Amino acid sequence: MGPMEFTGETPSHPHTYRCAGCGGVASWQARLQHVGCVSCGAAVDLPPADARTPVPFPLVPYLRDSPENRRVFTRTRVERPCPTCHATVVYEPGIAGTTCLACGTPLLRPRLESDAPLAPNAVVPFRLSEADARERIRAWSTEVSGGDLGSARMDLGRLRPVYLPYWLFSIYVHCAWRTEVEWTEQDGERRREVRSGVVEGGFEEIEPGASSVPAALLKGLAPLALDTAVPFDPRYLAGATVEQYAVSLWDAWDGTRERFNARIDSALTKDARTWTVPDETWPSWSKEVGTLTLVPLYVGSYRARGQT
Ligand SMILES: [Zn+2]
Ligand SMILES: [Zn+2]
Repeated sequence: MGPMEFTGETPSHPHTYRCAGCGGVASWQARLQHVGCVSCGAAVDLPPADARTPVPFPLVPYLRDSPENRRVFTRTRVERPCPTCHATVVYEPGIAGTTCLACGTPLLRPRLESDAPLAPNAVVPFRLSEADARERIRAWSTEVSGGDLGSARMDLGRLRPVYLPYWLFSIYVHCAWRTEVEWTEQDGERRREVRSGVVEGGFEEIEPGASSVPAALLKGLAPLALDTAVPFDPRYLAGATVEQYAVSLWDAWDGTRERFNARIDSALTKDARTWTVPDETWPSWSKEVGTLTLVPLYVGSYRARGQT
């Protein structure tokens, strides 16, 4: 496939894990940090997971206007038979991973030619089980409402484990600057000074790639525990709903670049000890890299005081 080969590609067939003991379906067990049988709890024998830091991809070749980068892609509804029970499994548009409604087998759908051109290359594994998450929500609801929203009155439905895609961008900036500063001394005399310097360093930004959860809700989620991300591995996805990105690399990069520029401007202003950006700047960006990281989230709704 040449230079555009996917990093951490989703397997081209549904990925399933089964219990060697009882034949039951197996999913990622957050409490145990391994894939285990839903029925008997036995761990599924798998080679050790890659625990290294995810390797980011270089942005420049992926942001080129070439046919294989496909700026436009379609999120398609896909139907496939379940490999366990042969029931029809429906993957709604933009959903890459789900579980069979008939038998509970965790599945990832095959990649299609028309899909978004990049596959996730990093994942933050679930560390909290659904039961633990539920417990925390109960504790939180009691705390914020003084018990008013507590377990007796809060009808908390099932929490769905979901992986949402996030773009992570990082750049290195070297920016020489020069500026003329003028001010009036206490004796009324005008003073003038030429200042110059160099601002240099790495910058990182995060941009949500999902469209299913309102952006305002996503904003409130930080921090995202991205320091616990590992290289993409389908084992972490077993049992969760997995979303493909809806915000393309270009759109994500456009928004991020503006934030990078704002941060560089503020670093320049600070370095120059002025109120405005220096008169002359010579910015040079390098080491532009990105990762497409799947971030774990429990999505649920509850009814309280007659409202959902
Ligand atoms: Zn079992
Ligand atoms: Zn099935």
